[in-house]
Amino acid sequence: MSAVRRTSILAVIVVLACGLAGCSAVRQTLGMSLVPVETEIKLGRELAAQIESQQRLLPDDKIQQYVVDIALPLLRASRIDRSDLRYRIAVLDDPKQVNAFALPGGFVYVYSGLLLFASNEAEVAGVLAHEIGHVVGRHSANRLATQMGMGALLSLALGQSQDELAEAAAQMAGAGTLAAFSREDEREADRYGVAYTVAAGYDPRGLVTFFTRLMQAEGESSSSRTSYETLMSSHPATSQRIRHMERLIANTGVTSGHREQERFDDIRSRLQHGYRGRSP
Ligand SMILES: [Zn+2]
Repeated sequence: MSAVRRTSILAVIVVLACGLAGCSAVRQTLGMSLVPVETEIKLGRELAAQIESQQRLLPDDKIQQYVVDIALPLLRASRIDRSDLRYRIAVLDDPKQVNAFALPGGFVYVYSGLLLFASNEAEVAGVLAHEIGHVVGRHSANRLATQMGMGALLSLALGQSQDELAEAAAQMAGAGTLAAFSREDEREADRYGVAYTVAAGYDPRGLVTFFTRLMQAEGESSSSRTSYETLMSSHPATSQRIRHMERLIANTGVTSGHREQERFDDIRSRLQHGYRGRSP
């Protein structure tokens, strides 16, 4: 098919769909189909290399493996929705960051501060499952489509260099904009998150209790915000979003699940006291 013909077909789709569903939703859906998986993975690798050269990985193999072990059953569950990626899950060493994030292409990072703030393993699993949901939903592609505009994405998709797309994305990631997802994407990540925690046997309320306590803590410590970077800025939790999560959980019919309290307490205690003396 010629480039001109493809452009006109896509333009017709955009016009039709804008009328039906609103342009923002259309831009996101098209963005998803216009950013190729190879570009997504390439971009993710570049960003991950950047992150790991600028920030410190937690120098404790046992805790790194612990978080990977939490993620594995969630990742297995996610293969129903997306199975074309190999994931990397890692802990970054910053006790002040109650945060986690996903890069394009399957790179998921959790800060040690999030492990310290969590009260059980189901909460960590809930956050990980939510981040995996962003990867499964290819939300960074949606973000790119929104940032670049459809025109630029279309011309890139119609044969121009994919390096140009990766370069544009890397610039945006540098400005921190790739991390901020739309409200629709947050809701979708919550939907995937609930499904994967239930499939893995975790108590799906972990994500709800985690965000509820985080909202309370933020309310109490708004004056010390500068030393308290949290998930709230990149994945805003509102009471509306919490109600949405509770509805999703109610719909599964699942009322309990494991929290692995003892195992979690051991790891948190190791994080608080154990590895510091041995780290470089
Ligand atoms: Zn999110």
